This record gives sequence, C-alpha cells and structure tokens, in this order.
Amino acid sequence: MAAIPASEIGSATAGDDYLPTSGNGGYTALHYDLDLDYRVATNRLTAEAVIRARATQPLARFSLDFAGLSVVKVTIDGARPKKLAETTRKLVITPEQPIAEGDEFTVHVRYRGAPHPIRSAWGEVGWEELADGVIVAGQPCGASSWFPCNDHPADKATYRIVVACEAGYTTVSNGELVSRSSRSGRTTSTFEMRQPMATYLATVQIGRYRSRAVTPAPAPAAPVAQALFYPQSLETQVAVDFARVPDMVALFSGLFGPYPFESYSVVVTHDELEIPLEAQGLAVFGRNHVDGAHGSDRLIAHELAHQWFGNCLTVARWRDIWLHEGFACYAEWIWAEASGGRPADASAAAYRARLDALPKDIVIGDPGPQGMFDDRVYKRGALALHAVRRALGDEVFYTALRAYVAECRYGAVSTEDFVEIMEASSGSEAVGPLIERWIYSKALPKL
Ligand SMILES: [Zn+2]
Repeated sequence: MAAIPASEIGSATAGDDYLPTSGNGGYTALHYDLDLDYRVATNRLTAEAVIRARATQPLARFSLDFAGLSVVKVTIDGARPKKLAETTRKLVITPEQPIAEGDEFTVHVRYRGAPHPIRSAWGEVGWEELADGVIVAGQPCGASSWFPCNDHPADKATYRIVVACEAGYTTVSNGELVSRSSRSGRTTSTFEMRQPMATYLATVQIGRYRSRAVTPAPAPAAPVAQALFYPQSLETQVAVDFARVPDMVALFSGLFGPYPFESYSVVVTHDELEIPLEAQGLAVFGRNHVDGAHGSDRLIAHELAHQWFGNCLTVARWRDIWLHEGFACYAEWIWAEASGGRPADASAAAYRARLDALPKDIVIGDPGPQGMFDDRVYKRGALALHAVRRALGDEVFYTALRAYVAECRYGAVSTEDFVEIMEASSGSEAVGPLIERWIYSKALPKL
C-alpha cells in the first residue's frame, strides 16, 4: 500500500499556540447534527454525530477531536473508512478515496459511554454531572468530551442538537427549541442554532428546572425572546435578580448593535458553581449567584455581553482572549453607569489603582496559555476600551464599536481587526497607539 503524501494529511492541530493539541487542519466544519440519548440516573450516553465539512486541501487523511467515549461506527459519505485510528484525544480517519480540495463530505460517528470532563490546564472542562443533572462548560477545550469536532474557536458551524433523557428533567441547549415530545417516560428535545457557533460554546444543560418566559423590553431592533430556567426553590430570588435582563439586552443592543441570536436563556443550577458561564444564546449561573437582591448584576451583564463579544465575534486565536473578557468586563461598567450606579470613569479609576498594586508582568494581548483567564486580562482590557472611549468621545466610540461588531458579525476576530475597523470608522489614528500601550505593554499607562 502506498504511503499517503504529507501534503494530503490534514494536520492534527489547528495551529493555535495556546492549545496546540486542539483543533485540526485540512477542512472546515459546516454543520453538526448531534443526536444524544442520555440517562441522567446512570450517566450513560448513546449518540450519533453527523458532521458536514469542506476540505480546504486535498485530504487523504484527517482528524477530529474526541475524548473519553467509545466509537461504535464511523462512515464517510455513507462508506466505511479505509482506516480508523483512535488516540486519547483524536479520531484519525482515512477515507477509501482522498477528498478533493473544496469538496464537501459528511462524517457519521456513532458513539457511547459515560461522558466526563477533560482535565486541562484550566481545570476540568466539558460534560459534567451535577448532583441531579448535567452542565457542559466547554471553554476552552471541553467540546470533545461529548461530541467529535474540530475544536477551535475560529471554525464555526451551525448546529442541530437533539437530547433525549428521562421525563421530569428539562433540557436546555443552544438556539431555538423546535420540538419537544415525550414517550415511554422519556422526553426528546430538538434545538437549532442557525447562526455559526464555536465548538466551546455548544452546550447541554439538564436539570429539574421550572421555566418562565420573560417579557422583552423595547429594543432598537426586534425584541429578543427570553426565558429563565431555575429550580423551583429559587423562584422568588431568580425573578428579582434577572428582572433587569430585558433592560440590559435593550441597552447593549443600542450600544453594540442588534442582539446577534434569536433568543436568550438563563439557566440557574441547583448546584453552586465556581463561576457563571456563557454559551451561545444562553448563560448559566449557580445557586450561589442568586440572592434575590441583585447581588450578581455585574455577572449577569458580563455573561450577556459575551453574546456579542466572544460568541458572535470569536477570537481567531486564543491569545486575543481580551477581545472577549475585556469587553464583557467593560459591559459591566457600562451597565452600572446606565442603571444609576458607579460611572465608568470611577470604575476605571478604581480598577486602575487596583492593577497598579499588582505585578506588571503580563502582556494582556498575549498573556500565555496559563494567563488566559487572569483577572488582569479582564480589567486591563476594560481599561483599554475606556481609554479608547475617552479619546474618541462617546458618539464616535460607539459608532465605531458597532461598525466593528457589524463587519465581523458571526466571524473570527483579532486585535488587528479591532484596531483597523475602529480607526477606519472613527477617522482617528489614536486607537492603535492606545492599544499598543494598554494591550501590548507591561507598564500600566495613566488614564
Ligand atoms: Zn467572561
């Protein structure tokens, strides 16, 4: 048998220097169709993933990220592959015939097992059992704990996610609930995410949740359908704490541009969670984030802002994570200011003083894999945006910010994109030098 030429082997990495073992080269994913049959009581998953992809080079062999579950059967365009190899993190597939550059192909993977989180440098990520249910927190490399994928944020695709589990549980996933039916004590829910989504933002939440639709506030664009999912015991507190979400949606839609997805859901788990998390079209909070006294307004604004910054506009490489976290942090200050709390100027001064007392040994535009979720990335990123806003003035700043969001909508972004679009839209050359000082230098600039 002739060896496969190296030029026809899709790389088993997306080439991201922060997560070199995640993602794959040689193709781009277009659509994931995930059919999950899950038993909460025993944590058993039987599933089928249908992945439609397009080859970006001649492809005699390619890989998918996949960890911890057993493959039952794989086909490509309906045929058995010539060769299938499994490593701890990858599924390596050699089709019978090489795929030509530009051709679309469909991979079916049937699999099963007891899903569990992946151990990573950022803790355990992925599919995780709650005391009575499931949470999926995929960032940054947990998606492959529950479906085979090209796990890199820049390779976005649309999704259809079907989840069947014991009746009595409520399932929440990304996008629109298009059907729900019950039979023989099991409930099947089908969701469609019709806007491109990064793998780490795909999620399934299962719990004994009550649900409630929320009346959206008038927004500059069409009103956004909103819903809350929560344990019955927290009903009163949840109603108080999340009452302002419609106003936040309206505020951010005005400042950043229309809310980018069809709906927004909030899940509050029975369990305590270390931190809330964002997924596309929803956010998840723990019971400890709910107090019935608006104690988590800051976090609620933060997670909502990720729908624009992180989910709609997603980093092309992880080193630019400040484009997610700095922006979401700044949205906290904007919400506080707009809702009668601390002005953004005062937040900026307070956080700059705090940062000044910390070691200045991080470049937040390239914080290193261990520094991706360092709080200084969040706060200094927000300060950078505040400095740009002060230099441009509110009207020019928000007009340029909306141009950045509109131009990069549903795509992958870099710091260079941000600077280029902000400067082009504002006509100011001040953005580049400010970003250079705030994002690419260690010394802390003055405001
Ligand atoms: Zn965040």
